[in-house]
Amino acid sequence: MTIVNQRPPRQCLGGEKEAGMATGDIAVARSVDALRQAVAAWRARHERIGLVPTMGAIHEGHLALVRAARGGCERVVASLFVNPKQFAPTEDFAAYPRSEAADLTAFQTAGVDLVFIPTVAEMYPPGFATSVEIGGVSEGLDGAHRPGHFVGVATVVAKLLLQCLPDAAYFGEKDYQQLMVVRRLARDLDIPVRIEGVTTVREGDGLALSSRNAYLSPAERRTAPLLYRVLCDSAAALTQDPEAVAATLARGIAQLRAGGFAVDYLELRDAADLTAMPQLAGPARLLAAVHIGRTRLIDNVPVAPA
Ligand code: AMP
Repeated sequence: MTIVNQRPPRQCLGGEKEAGMATGDIAVARSVDALRQAVAAWRARHERIGLVPTMGAIHEGHLALVRAARGGCERVVASLFVNPKQFAPTEDFAAYPRSEAADLTAFQTAGVDLVFIPTVAEMYPPGFATSVEIGGVSEGLDGAHRPGHFVGVATVVAKLLLQCLPDAAYFGEKDYQQLMVVRRLARDLDIPVRIEGVTTVREGDGLALSSRNAYLSPAERRTAPLLYRVLCDSAAALTQDPEAVAATLARGIAQLRAGGFAVDYLELRDAADLTAMPQLAGPARLLAAVHIGRTRLIDNVPVAPA
C-alpha cells in the first residue's frame, strides 16, 4: 500500500523543535532569519502561507483564526509576542498573561505549522527608531482612550507582515478598530497580503473570549456579559429607529453604568471606514469599551438598517 502524505513533513530550517510536549513536537522560530528560512522552503513548494498574529494566552478566539488560516492556506504560522509598544506605561504589559508551553500545545493541536516567538530585542534591537502611524481609522474610540496604542499595533503588524510575507493574515473582529487599522496599513503601504477578518468567538452567555477575561473575579465575570447584551439591544433599537442614534447610545451608556461598568465609549461608526454615524444610514458597527474592576473589556456588533 502506498501512503501519500499530502502535507509534507513539518520542518523549520534554522528553527527548533520543542521536545517533550504532551502532543508531540511543534516547530518554533525565535529569530526573523529562522522564520524566513521556514517560509522560503514552503514558498519554494508553492504552498500558501497564512499568518495569525497573537499576544498569547491562547483561547478559542485565537484558534478560530488558526482554523480560518488552515481553510485558506497550506501552511499556518502563528506568532506569540506581547508587544510592549502597544501598551501605555499605565497599562498591563508586565501583568499580561504569558503561558508559552500551553500556547504551543494549543497551536499544535489546532494544526499550526510554525510558531514565531521573537524576543523584544529581536523585534526592537538597539537603535530601532521607526513608528508606523495610521490616520483616520486610528482616531477616536480606542485611539482616543489608549494614546499610542495603534502606533504600537501598526508598527508591530507591519514588521510581522514583512518578516513573514504571508499570502493572508488573520485578525479578529473582536478588535474591530484594529482590523480596520491593519487593512488600511496593508493598503497604504502596498504590502501584498490579504487581510481576513474572523467573527468574534463568545462564551455561551455572550461574553467575547479575551485573554484579559482571566483578570475578572467571579462576581465581575457574572456581570461581564451585560456588555454584549447592551450592544445587541442597542443594535436592535437602532435598526428599528435609525434616526434615534443619540438617544439609543445614551440609554445604552446608562444601562452599562447601572450594571457597574465605567464606560470609555459606546459609539456607532461606519463599518467600512469608522467615520461617525449620526444616523444609521448604511452598514455600521456599534463599538464599546468599559472597565470593570481592573479589567478593560471591548466588544462590538454589526448594525444594519432594516
Ligand atoms: P490578542 O492575542 O488579544 O492580541 O489577539 C490576537 C488576535 O486574536 C487578534 O486578531 C484578535 O482580534 C483575535 N481575537 C481575540 N479574541 C478573539 C475572539 N474572542 N474571537 C475572535 N478573534 C479574537
